[in-house]
Amino acid sequence: MGIRLIQEELCTGCGVCVISCPMDVIKLDEERRKAIVQYIRDCQCCYMCERDCPEDIIYVTPDRERRIPLAW
Ligand code: SF4
Ligand code: SF4
Repeated sequence: MGIRLIQEELCTGCGVCVISCPMDVIKLDEERRKAIVQYIRDCQCCYMCERDCPEDIIYVTPDRERRIPLAW
């Protein structure tokens, strides 16, 4: 599944995870000041966001979201 935001209520909206993510998966909801996972299918499970979140509320599972293979 890749990234999961847990305990969203503890998110301070600092934006560190947005900067950390090399794949542009995470966005900041400017109104609510909360991080949101916008493009989970692009998550590469690199753990950068999990490592860098100062509130320790991001959890990354080792399994990537699998795309359904297209039939040719
Ligand atoms: S695990 Fe890596 S690719 Fe996935 S959201 Fe976090 S920083 Fe981005
Ligand atoms: S780094 Fe953590 S606290 Fe900061 S915006 Fe991302 S999820 Fe929220």
